[in-house]
Amino acid sequence: MDLPMFPEYSSEIDAVRDMVNRFMEAEIKPVMDGYEQRREFPRELVRKAGEAGLYGAVFPESVGGSNMGYLAAAVIQEEMVRNDVRFSSCNNQQGSTCPSAIYFGGTPEQIEKYVPNLVAGKTIGMMSLTESGGGSDAAGNMKTFARRDGDVYRITGQKMWASMANETDVGVLLAKTDRDAGAKGVTAFIVHPKKFPGWQATPIECLGLSKSMRTNIVYLDDFVVPVEDRLGEEGEGFKIIMRTLQPGRVGVAAKALGVARRCFEEAVRYANERTLRGQPIGRFQMIQSDIAEMTCAIEASRSLVYKAAMMMDASMAHNRMAAIAKFHASQTAKFCADKAMQIFGGYGLAEEYPVSYYRAYADMFFTGEGSANVQKIMIAEDALGYKLADRHHGKTGLRDIRKDDPSKAR
Ligand SMILES: Cc1cc2nc3c(=O)[nH]c(=O)nc-3n(C[C@H](O)[C@H](O)[C@H](O)COP(=O)(O)OP(=O)(O)OC[C@H]3O[C@@H](n4cnc5c(N)ncnc54)[C@H](O)[C@@H]3O)c2cc1C
Repeated sequence: MDLPMFPEYSSEIDAVRDMVNRFMEAEIKPVMDGYEQRREFPRELVRKAGEAGLYGAVFPESVGGSNMGYLAAAVIQEEMVRNDVRFSSCNNQQGSTCPSAIYFGGTPEQIEKYVPNLVAGKTIGMMSLTESGGGSDAAGNMKTFARRDGDVYRITGQKMWASMANETDVGVLLAKTDRDAGAKGVTAFIVHPKKFPGWQATPIECLGLSKSMRTNIVYLDDFVVPVEDRLGEEGEGFKIIMRTLQPGRVGVAAKALGVARRCFEEAVRYANERTLRGQPIGRFQMIQSDIAEMTCAIEASRSLVYKAAMMMDASMAHNRMAAIAKFHASQTAKFCADKAMQIFGGYGLAEEYPVSYYRAYADMFFTGEGSANVQKIMIAEDALGYKLADRHHGKTGLRDIRKDDPSKAR
């Protein structure tokens, strides 16, 4: 399955792929089941992954990154997920949403203070946009409110599905500062849940997802954020987070590709091992049909994910391609998880076989960071000429990770 599709990138990308596989094999696979059984957050493993450079691919060296780019970051996500999807649960918080939002919208001082420690895995990140009123209309339904009180904001409300919020040292949280201004009333804040009172994170029990790296409801009761920790200007938060979610979407697409590939590999192995009527079930034509369809879907997804990543590396308009890649790859992940379950028969439901929990992650990546329907709306409205997906490209006034110097004000 590891065909070098883009020869000009292949040797560097192959080296990245090998490095991730070696790291996961040596450092994560032998111990991750133990963390899951103990329901213990693997802080030490996150630090090791940070040290190995698994979170910093898109960031410049001046802020602790490796400057390898979005294609390398996509391959890292793909291989981490393929090896152990549970350990990849905090990848976005360490290497995408949280540090990227700070990079896109922050001051040079904020970037210097927070981004290096996040990508090094030394501090645990978080990004909290969603509320119970509906993630697909996050700005419209946002109730959490930040009230200015002298040198601080006091935030009250409730956030939903905030991954790692029970462990985070530094995160990005979105709240309204003007209830009547719609998306323009949303402001982004850098938050320190361990430093200030008024933050309570309660993990949500999710079927099939990691028990050690959790997603949470966050209850905020006059939670304090110093004014200097506001990210961007008041009212700029939604713009910052939408910009952050564009590359984030390609990262989720790459994760979905990792799910599809692991399900495929498990299915191939099992189809060769399991014998019925005196032959491996892989000899049955209907099983072969499933394997062929999975192969084609994965290759198509991989082309789209890598293309979107390379467009980001070239600082090209990429929102439309990111939506296409995310929709296709997450649909492929669900398709492959479903096919793998069928090939496994009843054993697919047994927890000792990873397809049982890879299927849950396929569902998560179908919905998270922009649901499948939301991606389809974006793709169709662009195609019909109602709303071009790339209409804001280059016009946001935010920093570009691949182009702009982080030590200069934006
Ligand atoms: C495990 C997990 C971890 C998460 N981590 C985070 C996190 O760290 N930070 C964070 O901010 N959020 C996080 N999320 C939230 C995630 O991004 C949202 O679940 C997602 O945006 C969808 O929101 P929703 O679940 O409220 O569904 P809804 O927005 O209520 O959507 C419900 C259904 O309606 C469909 N729909 C919505 N609008 C339309 C439309 N216009 N036309 C047709 N259909 C439509 C959707 O596709 C979906 O099928 C996480 C979610 C999960 C499950």
